[in-house]
Formats: sequence, C-alpha cells, structure tokens
Amino acid sequence: MNVNENYLKLPGSYLFSTIAKKVAEYTAANPDKDVIKLGIGDVTQPICPAVIKALHKAVDEMGTPEGFHGYAPDLGYSFLREKMSECDYKARGCNIEPDEVFISDGAKSDSGNIQELFSEDAVIAVTDPVYPVYVDSNVMGGRTGVYDEKTGVWSNVVYMPCTAENNFIPSFPDKVPDVIYLCLPNNPTGTTLKKDELQKWVDYANEHDSVIIFDSAYEAYISEDDVPHTIYECEGARTCAIEIRSFSKNAGFTGLRLGATIVPKDLKRNGASLHDMWARRHGTKFNGAPYIVQRAGEAVYSKEGQKETKAQVAYYMKNASYILNGLKDAGYEVYGGINAPYIWLKTKDNMTSWEFFDYLLTTANVVGTPGSGFGPSGEHYFRLTAFGTYENTVRAIDRIKKL
Ligand SMILES: *Cc1c(COP(=O)(O)O)cnc(C)c1O
Repeated sequence: MNVNENYLKLPGSYLFSTIAKKVAEYTAANPDKDVIKLGIGDVTQPICPAVIKALHKAVDEMGTPEGFHGYAPDLGYSFLREKMSECDYKARGCNIEPDEVFISDGAKSDSGNIQELFSEDAVIAVTDPVYPVYVDSNVMGGRTGVYDEKTGVWSNVVYMPCTAENNFIPSFPDKVPDVIYLCLPNNPTGTTLKKDELQKWVDYANEHDSVIIFDSAYEAYISEDDVPHTIYECEGARTCAIEIRSFSKNAGFTGLRLGATIVPKDLKRNGASLHDMWARRHGTKFNGAPYIVQRAGEAVYSKEGQKETKAQVAYYMKNASYILNGLKDAGYEVYGGINAPYIWLKTKDNMTSWEFFDYLLTTANVVGTPGSGFGPSGEHYFRLTAFGTYENTVRAIDRIKKL
C-alpha cells in the first residue's frame, strides 16, 4: 500500500518536541533547578467569568428538551456569525456579512486546511520567519518541493525574509506567488504592518491574481492606531483575501477551541467561488464547533466579556513590556512586544538560535523558542512569550539581566 509520501518529507523532529526533550533532559540531570518557561505559545490565564457563565447556561440548556442542540449548522450558529460580522467588521467599517463568516474549531486547523482550495502546483509565499503551520500543511499538500536540511529551505516555497535589516517588513517576491500567507501581528517577530503598507499587498494580490491568507490571531494585541485590525480595512481586500480568526489568544480558548474564517463572496479565481468551495468543504469535512463553545464565543462580545478579556490581554502586555525593557537594559537587540505578546531578540554574541537556547536554559534556567524553528531567516534570533504569569516573567527576566 502506498502512503502519502508528502507526509514523509516533513522533517521529523518538530520544534516544540525538541524543546520539550531538551528541557526534560536538563531537569532530570538538575532536579534542584527551577526552570521557567517563556517559550510555548499557550496562554495561562483562566477563562473569564462572563464566558464561564455562558458556558454553564448552555450546558444546562443541553439537558432540556427545548434547549438541546444536535449537529451545529455547517457554517456555525447565526448568533455568533452575526455578532462577529457586527463587532469585528461592520463596527470597523468593513462590509463582511454573517454568511461570509465560517465558524471553526480554531485558527490552526483552518490555516492548515485552507491550502486544499488551491491547485497542487500553486506556488505559496510566506514571510520568513512565521508560524510553521502554513509551510508544513503545504508540504503535506505536495506543493513545497525538496527540503534542504542544511538551510531549512523548501525549493518551491517563496520566502520573504523579515529581519532587522528590513525592519521586518517583507518585500514583494521576485516570483509572483499564487498564495501569500501574512500573519499580522506576526508570530514570532511581534511586528506588524501599517495600513498603507498592508494596502500595497492587497493591491499586489489583486493585480497578480494572488490570494492572501491573513492570520489575525493576535488582532486583540494591537495597540497602535494606524495598524489595521482586519485586512478588510484595506480597499479591494474582498476580492483577494481570506482572513483567519481565533478566540485562543484574546480570550483563552486554546482548550475550548473556537475560531472563524472569513471567505468573502467576491473572492473568485478562474471563475470559481472560493466561498462556495470552502462551504462545500466545511459541510463535508468539518464537524462544527460545539453549541456550548459557540455560546461561549458569543459571550466574549458581551460588555463584561469585552472588559474581562481586554484585561487578560493587558495582563500579558504588561509581561511583554517587562521583557522588552528588561532585555534592552541587558543590552539585547529586541523587537515586537508592542502589538503582540511576542518578544523577538537577536541572540547574544551571534550564537545560533539553538546555542542560545542551551545557553539560556543552563545559565538562567529560562526556556524560550529558537528563532530558526520559524524559518531560515529566524536563525540567530530567539522568541520569548508574554503568556506566563507576571511573577515568573519578572523572575526570568531578572535572571537574564544578571547573567
Ligand atoms: C496560536 C496561533 C494560532 C492557533 O490558533 P488556534 O485558534 O488555537 O488554533 C494560529 N495562528 C497563529 C499565528 C498562532 O500563533
């Protein structure tokens, strides 16, 4: 029996499993050390009271004949789609209708699955470094060519390097891609684009018939005024952009699971409606997000929900500024941390990302994430996240400052 060979092309050791292994080995050998993790991109604050209240209510409903809900509608419950259309889009002057909102179980699955809409020979472009799911899912889809283990480069992927040299702003690639992944604010660099800069990408995509996949998982962290909260703030985005949203980083749903993908009805390629294609896929391959979780998502938009989730984002951003300022004091070149819960730093003494990982683990007993795990241009960089508790963040940074 032949298996899907594309899966076998993926390098075996996934970033976070390598980190977990190294940390386990270190703690086994040094049981007295107090290791602080500022590495993994999971939140730590509990679900806020407004959402818990909505969950309880929905759970109780499910036990009554009138309140029972079976299979969810394919595209999600209209109460949530209408809320999102209203609060996330129309309130910002963007015309996204409820039937263009596809409720999902999170941004990871949708950002990994969206590539199914494109032909096998579609050329994909990614900012480099970036969230690894975009490239890995296209490896599985057979689009990425041959992997060079030494450089970490796939032969058929168009990389758009984002480094300190270009202020982390990608340039248009030499080769026109069919699909362009943009994650803004960015994981892992924490940087973002101003509205006029993003508009250029929308214009480029419309001009060249490319499709932009816009991952807005960190939208709630935007603190600067001229940074768009959605790509649909740019003129013409309805004909070239798909936007992927998540409830994970703004409201702590990493365990509850909820997200949404926006596919405008104006988005067509070769006469085919990507909206209709995604609807077909959703109906066939997606089980729907649970009723109780969609009610929980609705509660995020309530007055209390907004207040409480914004307080969580503010909590993480207080950590971010502690990390940012502490590392600056310690003499590091640091980026991000203003519109995102990520701090991206140049390693000390030009160490490789993994050398710096070992250095921080064994000296400060702090775990971070090697930048090279996010793409070839991430080499010699390192990511720290603001998702820890404030106490641990302060302890970790104070240790680094003393090195
Ligand atoms: C964390 C993260 C996600 C995952 O979101 P889920 O909704 O939890 O699946 C998606 N995209 C980026 C860039 C992320 O960092």
